[in-house]
Amino acid sequence: MRKRVGIMGGTFDPIHIGHLILGESAYQQFGLDKVLFMPSGNPPHKQNREDGASNEERVEMVRRAIASNQHFELSLEEMHEQGYNYTRETLERLTTLHTDTDYYFIMGADSLLNFETWKDPQEICRLCVIVAAVRDHMPAQQLDEKIARLNVRYSADIRKLETPNLDISSHAIRTWVAEGKSCRYYVPGKVLSYISERDIYRKQKMTFGELE
Ligand code: ATP
Ligand code: MG
Repeated sequence: MRKRVGIMGGTFDPIHIGHLILGESAYQQFGLDKVLFMPSGNPPHKQNREDGASNEERVEMVRRAIASNQHFELSLEEMHEQGYNYTRETLERLTTLHTDTDYYFIMGADSLLNFETWKDPQEICRLCVIVAAVRDHMPAQQLDEKIARLNVRYSADIRKLETPNLDISSHAIRTWVAEGKSCRYYVPGKVLSYISERDIYRKQKMTFGELE
């Protein structure tokens, strides 16, 4: 029996219930053995962005968010000093190292929509199954058509993840924290307390405050 491992990649700035539900749904729908949560690295010049968390903080938030789920695992595969990694290279490394494993790369419809602009989409499709979830209230038919087109173009195995539209983004969370609004239930409590302890995402507000 070949192993089935999901990959939930993202910036996770911060991780929210959308990411977690996608991982859990893929685990269930495709009978995965586990799901790797893989924060993407940032080039050194992009670190500590004005309104974002540092690499270390993004990793720690993922660690806290997935701690209670036994089939979720943190992967630092894309967290390198050099910064940004390409999905194709990551998948090539993983599939070479774990020849007994099929990888299921999980993404939202927004990522699938610009998939053709990624580096080496054809190769990515050769190296994994892609699992796509609806987002931004995209009509089901539009997502189905996109999947069908890409499957033909790249001889890919792209499948739809059966999730409801999860109306949440990291961008919204960052904005709400900066505005002092509650993000409770959108982000796990242990992540929220970390954001609050480290005073992440509040820099924007302070800057505006100083200008006034
Ligand atoms: P930002 O608002 O900063 O862009 P984000 O919420 O889009 O953050 P990312 O870390 O950029 O989160 O996303 C990682 C992956 O998770 C992407 O493939 C994205 O499409 C998917 N994703 C994130 N949130 C959702 C959601 N609410 N529904 C479906 N897919 C999602
Ligand atoms: Mg995004």
